[in-house]
Amino acid sequence: MQRPLLLNGFMATGKSTVGRKVAELSGASFVDLDNEIEARTQMSVAAIFKERGEQAFRKLEREQLEALLSGWSRRFSAAPVVALGGGALLERSTRVEALRASVVVTLTATPQTIARRAASRSGRPLLEGDDLESQAEALLALRSGSYLEAHAIIPTDDVSLAVLADRVLKVWREDTITVAAGEATYAVEVGRGFFMQRLPGLVEGHSRALLVTDANVLPLHGQRTLAALGPLILSASCTLEPGEPHKNLAGVSQIWEAAHAHSLDRKSLVVALGGGVVTDMAGFGAATWMRGIPWVALPTTLLAMVDASVGGKTAIDYKDAKNCVGAFWQPKRVLCDTELLNTEPERGFVGALAEVVKTALIGDPELFEICRSQHAAIAARDPACIEDIVRRSVRVKAHVVSQDPRESGIRATLNLGHTLGHALEADAGYTELTHGEAVSLGLMAALYLGERLGLTPSSLTTEVREVLSALRLPTQLHAAKLRRALALLGRDKKRAGNQLRFVVAKAVGQVTSVSLELSELERLTEELASSLAGQDPAN
Ligand code: NAD
Repeated sequence: MQRPLLLNGFMATGKSTVGRKVAELSGASFVDLDNEIEARTQMSVAAIFKERGEQAFRKLEREQLEALLSGWSRRFSAAPVVALGGGALLERSTRVEALRASVVVTLTATPQTIARRAASRSGRPLLEGDDLESQAEALLALRSGSYLEAHAIIPTDDVSLAVLADRVLKVWREDTITVAAGEATYAVEVGRGFFMQRLPGLVEGHSRALLVTDANVLPLHGQRTLAALGPLILSASCTLEPGEPHKNLAGVSQIWEAAHAHSLDRKSLVVALGGGVVTDMAGFGAATWMRGIPWVALPTTLLAMVDASVGGKTAIDYKDAKNCVGAFWQPKRVLCDTELLNTEPERGFVGALAEVVKTALIGDPELFEICRSQHAAIAARDPACIEDIVRRSVRVKAHVVSQDPRESGIRATLNLGHTLGHALEADAGYTELTHGEAVSLGLMAALYLGERLGLTPSSLTTEVREVLSALRLPTQLHAAKLRRALALLGRDKKRAGNQLRFVVAKAVGQVTSVSLELSELERLTEELASSLAGQDPAN
């Protein structure tokens, strides 16, 4: 197993018992976090609570967990199984970090079961005295939100230890990427040739399914998807016109029409099979039908796998305003089956590599190195290499989105290269440049501007330019186009206000967003355009 397994959950849900059994079955080491704290402090947990208080205990717990997650490979030859104290992941930042660095399974039990189990053992500082059931109920209500953010939630009432250990092991082995979003928390699976086997489990419990795809994808992958859904559930399909010009109200109306014709109810499921246009529209259709029904994303382009399908942003374009009408609506699950990319047209695939490079700059130096050293394997769509870059990109995006599901802070860093990228794309009328090509140029612009702000080292600009070129992406900015893009930024002034957050890269894996006056961005971009024109009079 690649990452440690953390067993989380309320007290008396069986974390230690199940943990020991899973460790025994997998040959992994077992760690009880409370025991580690007791060994370190030479005090019992109950005594720490009594003498130092709960806050001090939580601090110790956090430190111990951080040390374990960052240093387990120095202590153990394989990833360990760790039983946590019931409050170890209450703080959201600790929980989100745990979801990145490990596989987290929440064990649950009813207050009755908890009270029964707790009565037979003393030494639980938060559950003592009479009426354990009411105490458990009250504490559970306070903590339930934090237990929802996990790779899996497994009830333990009336289930044998062997069955429980098996279920937990299965989740650990699947090692999915989890996007933490409260009760909408979901998994992204990355693999090759697996989506058909997964669909039956995903439609279980739903009344019917609507497959939303487009006219290019339907003949390539639609029929077998429908065939996989067909025997299990009453399913229908809705085939949209392909491409950005159709990401509009008429397209969503078509989804609503199909939902109406096939009587989709609140227990129905939308299955989105396609590129970013389809996932954006099907997600929005699902978000709006009956005020929100579940949907599953089956992305078929590299861009949709590494970006559009992860994060729950769904939208359509309105007139000339891109992604202007939309909703945050998280999918129930995302299946990134990289075999589907075999048929993706070359230009879109290459363009999406700009998003991969952007993602590497935001949070994965090893991914950047892979883009640099394995560009030939990437260009040849080597299956193992593509699976690796998709998995790494999704991990970074999932972690950023988990920290900030509604884009009120750190999620803005995902816009690296997009401020000027979007303007260049709009200037080119959304036809001359693909989104990815525009992002590649936007990244170059962000690096040059970062240099002018004194935040980006010029060596980084050179490195990124070389990697983008090796991946066959455009890097040459043109003064006239940059100036026209600037004018478009200005036109957006009303929407953006005078201040905007501009994302700059300081190093590979280190980005920051700075607040800039629009006039300052315009001045810096004009300076850049002049210097480009100066370097090359043809520019
Ligand atoms: P796309 O969906 O238009 O797909 C590109 C083309 O490839 C289309 O013609 C499509 O029919 C075809 N196609 C798709 N998969 C194929 C396959 N496997 N084989 C053959 N043909 C295939 O474009 P895209 O680049 O995937 O996505 C772009 C869209 O994604 C934009 O609308 C953008 O706004 C959106 N997006 C959304 C988010 C988000 O967070 N929601 C993030 C990034 C981008």
